[in-house]
Amino acid sequence: MPPVSKIILNNPLDFKEVYDISAPLNTAPTYPGDRPYFREWMARLDEGNDYSLSALAFCSHAGTHLDFPNHLLKSGGAQEQYSLKRFIIPAKVISVSEEGPVLPSSLLGCKIDKGQALLFKTGNSEKHLMHQAAFSEEFVYLSLDVARLCVAAEVSLVGIDYLSADKYGDDSMPVHRTLLENDILILEGIDLAAVPCGRYSLICLPLSIKDAEASPVRAILVR
Ligand SMILES: [Zn+2]
Repeated sequence: MPPVSKIILNNPLDFKEVYDISAPLNTAPTYPGDRPYFREWMARLDEGNDYSLSALAFCSHAGTHLDFPNHLLKSGGAQEQYSLKRFIIPAKVISVSEEGPVLPSSLLGCKIDKGQALLFKTGNSEKHLMHQAAFSEEFVYLSLDVARLCVAAEVSLVGIDYLSADKYGDDSMPVHRTLLENDILILEGIDLAAVPCGRYSLICLPLSIKDAEASPVRAILVR
């Protein structure tokens, strides 16, 4: 669909490349057990009302979202404890060919800068899993060794292209724990299919909700 806005932007930032790596909330799959996205119409123009108005309900982990430490840790930080600067950071997109868990070998020879975001582009993106309403149990996730490597590299955020960084059904969530215990935020449910590997700036602002343990984000990569 072409953009509706007729406003001509005079944008001094003028990024050459802008990638939307978010999945629409209303078509993204729902993690089993989570409350599915729901939109209730309060009024509709096409039903004779003077305006359209709807109410939304969704899980805080719906679609493309950030996990904060208080998701798993009693004394873990909540969203408002992070400066907005944590959500606007240098990022690196790494392509991974493994079908199972992402292993440390996929980071061989990859220079990781302290404080940057590391985003894993896996077969999940190739299969457009975030754009299929049906949940897939067979998704590529991160191995515990890769999580430990991210901790050692002191990255500030790890991104994965499906709804969990951990293997489906592993309720002990070792990857989540390892990252969140070390203050590394987790960006889940991104789609990197259209994004070439390389360096970018990541912008992924959570909704402003006090004490949130997770929040949907509109995540973009620019350069
Ligand atoms: Zn989550």
